[in-house]
Amino acid sequence: MAEEKRLIYLDNAATTKTAPEVVEAMLPYFTELYGNPSSVYQFSQKNKEAITAARETIAKSLGANTEEIYFTAGGSESDNWALKAAAEAYKSKGNHIITTKIEHHAVLHTGDWLKKQGCEVTYLDVDENGTVKLEELRKAIRPTTILISVMFANNEIGTIQPIREIGKIAREHGILFHTDAVQAFGQLPIQVDELNIDMLSSSAHKLNGPKGIGFLYIRKGVKIRSFIHGGAQERKRRAGTENVPGIIGYGAAVERAMRTMEERTKKERELRDYLIDRVLREVPYTRLNGHRTNRLPNNANFSFQFVEGESLLIMLDTEGICGSSGSACTSGSLDPSHVLLAIGLPHEIAHGSLRLTLSEETTKEDLDVVVEAIKRIVGRLREMSPLYEDFTRRQ
Ligand SMILES: *Cc1c(COP(=O)(O)O)cnc(C)c1O
Repeated sequence: MAEEKRLIYLDNAATTKTAPEVVEAMLPYFTELYGNPSSVYQFSQKNKEAITAARETIAKSLGANTEEIYFTAGGSESDNWALKAAAEAYKSKGNHIITTKIEHHAVLHTGDWLKKQGCEVTYLDVDENGTVKLEELRKAIRPTTILISVMFANNEIGTIQPIREIGKIAREHGILFHTDAVQAFGQLPIQVDELNIDMLSSSAHKLNGPKGIGFLYIRKGVKIRSFIHGGAQERKRRAGTENVPGIIGYGAAVERAMRTMEERTKKERELRDYLIDRVLREVPYTRLNGHRTNRLPNNANFSFQFVEGESLLIMLDTEGICGSSGSACTSGSLDPSHVLLAIGLPHEIAHGSLRLTLSEETTKEDLDVVVEAIKRIVGRLREMSPLYEDFTRRQ
């Protein structure tokens, strides 16, 4: 039998490994401490206290108040809640929402749904690096605008948005500002007051926490509707027995992410730049997608001309290398990524894209293996491409 190849996991924007210390923190809440936090007996009070402690850890990391953190089932739910509830609660003020063309589908598709309910939604263009143009944002504002929703950092190309400026513009116009910070939280320092953020979405599994738990930060004073009706959990706004192990794991993941952020992201940035430099230097007809420097510490996204991204992914997979051709949600469909189209890539270039997202466990040796594999596979795929043959003949 062939020797088992070591897995090189470079898809940390899709999900991350749950950290062992996070799993350990969660375990007692499956076994001994299984009580329902809403029950009155002392046995359950411990769970209630542990939830409060996790909520405090999370609130503190953002410079928020404990009562402003509402647990949800993940980033998608938080995005849905922020947009739908703001549209409902601010109906009397207006029906216009501004967002961007490069949001995660949890925002984009919610926007499309709200349009069917009578909202008007502006999807802002971005520049060639994937950055929102502030002048366009200003121009898009109407007297009826109730919400601006711009992601903190993009999950495909890693570009970080000018969140401070956007928050300032929203505040000047008395418009709510929501940000999908699912990729940024735990990788970049975020303080909600400094940045004028009114609502913020996050998801634990993107920062070494468990899957199926997220939160929505809602600034005190923001009128917001309940998302799930039922019991009195989450200040009556999101009913349902708490995901106790998930919440505890989330708290532990945030504590860990804040403690390790500086060192972890410094190392990731160096390795990311090493990867980017080598690929651009050693693989011809290749471009980097997203901003060269103002990007997530762990994100690299390339387009290889004359190459089909899906084929590249499959061949990398046979060598034990996990990457992505877009977001996990778009893989499986043959449409090119909406983000790559929004930054102006033609379809055929967008189709030849590869996203590699590092973790703190990624090593330089891993990246050397990956670069060699990319060079070999891209070379082989180009040899099979009639377009490449035409192109070289014309050279
Ligand atoms: C992963 C992701 C989401 C969805 O989060 P889930 O917890 O998987 O629902 C939303 N927005 C962005 C930017 C993401 O990367």
